[in-house]
Amino acid sequence: MSFADLGLSAGLLKAVAAMGYTEPTPIQEQSIPVTLTGRDILGCAQTGTGKTAAFILPALQLTERGKGIGILVVTPTRELAGQIDEVARAASKFTGHRVAAVYGGVGYEPQVKKLRRGVELLVATPGRLLDLHQRGDVDLSHVSILVLDEADRMLDMGFWPDVRRILALLPSKRQNMLFSATLSKEIMRIAEPMLDDPARVEVSPSATPVEAISQS
Ligand code: AMP
Repeated sequence: MSFADLGLSAGLLKAVAAMGYTEPTPIQEQSIPVTLTGRDILGCAQTGTGKTAAFILPALQLTERGKGIGILVVTPTRELAGQIDEVARAASKFTGHRVAAVYGGVGYEPQVKKLRRGVELLVATPGRLLDLHQRGDVDLSHVSILVLDEADRMLDMGFWPDVRRILALLPSKRQNMLFSATLSKEIMRIAEPMLDDPARVEVSPSATPVEAISQS
């Protein structure tokens, strides 16, 4: 299967080629066409599977420019936020969407400046996003696509109360995607009320964490 078969626009196909991707990965093949129909997604995929492009590409296609932050990606760490920001910037090279990442541990000013210039896709860690919202520096009232990336890690790191606060700031009518390396009982309990009839996409990792640990 090729990226063109997945229903992506010409601008996104051009970006994909420029990124050096020739064929979609299994998670991209499964989730891009479904996401483009507007359906919620429950994704079980680890880093390294191509999951970032799997949510970024269709989200960009579904989002108009110039209408405020339409896509919000919430992720647990600054490193992940940086990686997603990189993929999002490369993916939007020919569509003109503006991308920004906000995370803690660095000054507010450069992030605030970027937000003021206008952004359609925002990648954020929970605490910094709430801080910026409290300061009045970020408007979440136009978000129509929410991605919760590495939901299991956000739960483990104790970010879930912050995530809940963020959910309460978003319009209730939106498309939701939740990605997690594991779909534990606890993740399912959280996912269920926030996802509406989600399509479940899953790729099995080549080795589960336990198998990947060698004992000596
Ligand atoms: P991710 O799982 O999103 O962290 O992606 C893991 C790595 O795979 C990143 O370095 C991506 O740039 C790369 N990647 C994602 N999709 C593709 C693809 N379709 N073809 C080749 N590399 C890809």
